Amino acid sequence: MIPFVDLKAQYRAIKDEINEAIGEALDNAWFVLGPRTADFERLFAGYTGTKYAVGVSSGTSALHLALLTLGIGPGDEVITTPFTFVATVASIMYAGAKPILVDIDPVTYNLNPARIENVISPQTKAIMPVHLYGQCVDMDPILDIAERYKLLVIEDAAQAHGAEYKGRRAGSMGAIACFSFYPGKNLGAYGEGGAVVTSNPDYDKKVRMLRDWGMEQKNRYDLLGFNARMHGIQGAVLKVKMKYIEEWTKARRGNAALYNQLLKGIEGVVTPTEASYARHVYHVYAVRVKRRDRVYQRLVEAGIGAGIHYPVPVHMQKGYANLGYEKGYFPVAEEIASEVISLPIYPELSESQIEEVVSALKSSL
Ligand SMILES: *Cc1c(COP(=O)(O)O)cnc(C)c1O
Repeated sequence: MIPFVDLKAQYRAIKDEINEAIGEALDNAWFVLGPRTADFERLFAGYTGTKYAVGVSSGTSALHLALLTLGIGPGDEVITTPFTFVATVASIMYAGAKPILVDIDPVTYNLNPARIENVISPQTKAIMPVHLYGQCVDMDPILDIAERYKLLVIEDAAQAHGAEYKGRRAGSMGAIACFSFYPGKNLGAYGEGGAVVTSNPDYDKKVRMLRDWGMEQKNRYDLLGFNARMHGIQGAVLKVKMKYIEEWTKARRGNAALYNQLLKGIEGVVTPTEASYARHVYHVYAVRVKRRDRVYQRLVEAGIGAGIHYPVPVHMQKGYANLGYEKGYFPVAEEIASEVISLPIYPELSESQIEEVVSALKSSL
């Protein structure tokens, strides 16, 4: 049995420090925000190459508040990808704006910059690239389009803590960027959590207000805000984990390199491509195979915790039918969605476990 992710193994490795940090938060009743969350925000801003990080209640609220901070709302359009977790598209709808989807690149599975200009309209306000699986979108063409058409760029970096594009960190390239600390993400809280990062002081201020009921100062509410603050215990946990994130990322990259080597030349398996511009942080290590559902079933039967990210693109989900897209609109996303399988890639995985996954995959083909 090899699980898809082993959060218990990671906790065992840092248990004393984590328990001490949680104990400190409890002893001081730092339940919401609190000084350790503020410490974490400083560390995380530094880590992402930005000036400010604002801890919020989830990656989804990070996206929602980031859109509101940029003034995006009803009547506006935001361009993004159909091949992502639904939260990306949902957040645009929460803000009251209309998601406009474009197909993906067949090699990186990320938003294809060449398709963006076709869908720009007078209503377009922003582009929301998603650094899927932990690999940055090809950002230069997107930043160039954004500049030419006066659009804002919001990075969905929920899967890309520490990822780089031409040496620049995920989160530092757009006007504003969003991270998730859902437990299974590369940097995971022990509950829900997220962050908005930016180097713009006005955006920082507005996100801070929006996460806390729109409060400007005590008893003064200048905006319609939300209850979307980071929990104090999560801030304390994440502060401890910042010491290890680079080490864990290196372990993920090492695991990916070993998979690439062991899977090389196996007919019918397409391994992930790390673009020449990228430092991929392998939140997901997805291979592509034909007859995916059968291969997936066999892997699961062999005790391998495989996953599928994502079997159905957002435009084909029932809850998103009102966007007006149908099957056939985004052929690349639809084909990739029918072929991907995510293999376990978590940092604590051993070499022999990776060998076991590879041999199970071979016999599942
Ligand atoms: C996880 C994820 C989110 C949402 O984050 P939550 O913390 O689960 O709300 C948004 N976008 C992408 C691409 C994600 O992977």
